[in-house]
Parts: sequence; structure tokens; C-alpha cells
Amino acid sequence: MEAHLPTVVCAWCDRLLRRGLPSVSHGICPDCAHTFVRSFPAPHPSSALAAAGRPLASPVR
Ligand SMILES: [Zn+2]
Repeated sequence: MEAHLPTVVCAWCDRLLRRGLPSVSHGICPDCAHTFVRSFPAPHPSSALAAAGRPLASPVR
């Protein structure tokens, strides 16, 4: 199944998150997600970090 998904790279640091099809989608790696969440004055940063724990793969339509 994974083979049918696009390659995903971190939009912030270009780290390869998932190797897949030649088409590339952008997500965010755990390190950048952590930095991003910490820079965000969210009232509940722990829940925001949990939401960012997985690469946000959004296929180009
Ligand atoms: Zn990154």
C-alpha cells in the first residue's frame, strides 16, 4: 500500500520522510514539528504536538 503513496519530504528542512512514488508531497518531520509547535503560542501545545506527530501528507490534486 505504501508503494502507492507519493514520496514525502519535510517542507522545512527537506528531510525525506517517506520514500514512495516519484511524485513528491510535503509534510513536516518530528523535529520541525516540535520547533514549530514551540514557536506557536498555543494554549495546549501538547495536543498540537500530538497532531503534528505524523507527516502531513497532502497529495497534489
Ligand atoms: Zn524538517
